[in-house]
Amino acid sequence: MNETPAAARRRGGSDLIVLRPAGLYCPAGDFHIDPWRPVARAVITHAHADHARAGHGAYLATAAGEGVLRARLGSGISLQSLAYGEAVDCNGVRVSLHPAGHVLGSAQVRVEHRGRVWVASGDYFVSGIEHDANTTCAPFEPVRCECFITESTFGLPVYRWRAQAAVQRDINAWWQANADAGRASLLMGYSFGKAQRLLAGLDSSIGPIVVHDAVEPLNAAYRAAGVRLPATRAIDQVPRPELKRAIAIAPPAVQGSHWAQRLGDDAADAFASGWMRLRGARRRYGVDRGFVLSDHADWPGLQRAIGATGAQRVIVTHGYEAVMVRWLQQQGLQAESFITAYGDDALDGDSGAALGADGDAAGAGDGAAAATPGAAGDTAAP
Ligand SMILES: [Zn+2]
Ligand SMILES: [Zn+2]
Repeated sequence: MNETPAAARRRGGSDLIVLRPAGLYCPAGDFHIDPWRPVARAVITHAHADHARAGHGAYLATAAGEGVLRARLGSGISLQSLAYGEAVDCNGVRVSLHPAGHVLGSAQVRVEHRGRVWVASGDYFVSGIEHDANTTCAPFEPVRCECFITESTFGLPVYRWRAQAAVQRDINAWWQANADAGRASLLMGYSFGKAQRLLAGLDSSIGPIVVHDAVEPLNAAYRAAGVRLPATRAIDQVPRPELKRAIAIAPPAVQGSHWAQRLGDDAADAFASGWMRLRGARRRYGVDRGFVLSDHADWPGLQRAIGATGAQRVIVTHGYEAVMVRWLQQQGLQAESFITAYGDDALDGDSGAALGADGDAAGAGDGAAAATPGAAGDTAAP
């Protein structure tokens, strides 16, 4: 289509959020949302490393996420925090943050200008199973808007989550069986968000709960925010005989590390992730068990969340953009995608210098594997 630059400007000019080299940008308010290059003013949806980067002039984020954001980016960042639903004016644009149900403090960004409303979701958790919310943070709240910018990490029909309680029962049964057999259990999941959900579901009557040093500072942030987690200990606080009944929660990067070896040669290991839904994923990660537990919406959850916004236009960011765009267009919606620099949460700072992880947690390979789930099993699972 031969569109003149002037026409393109006019068209782009009516959009409340556009794609710029540094990231999502609100021209009327002159601020970016989760930019991947340094900008003057950044609204941050949540503190995962691919959405919350260092180097911006000023930050706007939720009060609930402030502790984690400062722990990761430094306490000296210029940060204005908002309660969920509280609004601020940015150059005549009304900006407010609304729960996304993804991790502690995660938010969707609602942007209102001259009566028009757009919402950028960041990452969010909505299950296809009604009311099955993430209990370790404020649950996703649908916000009415004319245009919804959605993630699509698990935007394929194969991704359907079971009820979280059922997955937690499976995890406890696995732990119990290992403890009865006299071997430790190593349960791996990303440090920020997943680890706390795993902890919240554990039955602490089975044995001691050990956490990796990369996880404990985040537990502290969750506890400070009033989230109930079971008592946890560092690995050197548990006498060796007791470790045989223990479960250890750690980021995937510990696999094969000195830290993991302290659990014993016979320790059972498992990985909890949405990617475990893929056939062959457990083998690729080289673990005994895979538990399908995600901090992102599954396919029916994405559809439910998008529908609840009432948006007639949807912009898909990271994930299976093409599949989701096609499905949305089939529903009669105006749909397109933005190419962003967001990844899976595997890109998150689980090597964690800011969080005091020890030198063991190198494992860049985990990020690469999870960020590119690959052709091997994407559509093969039933
Ligand atoms: Zn995230
Ligand atoms: Zn993301």
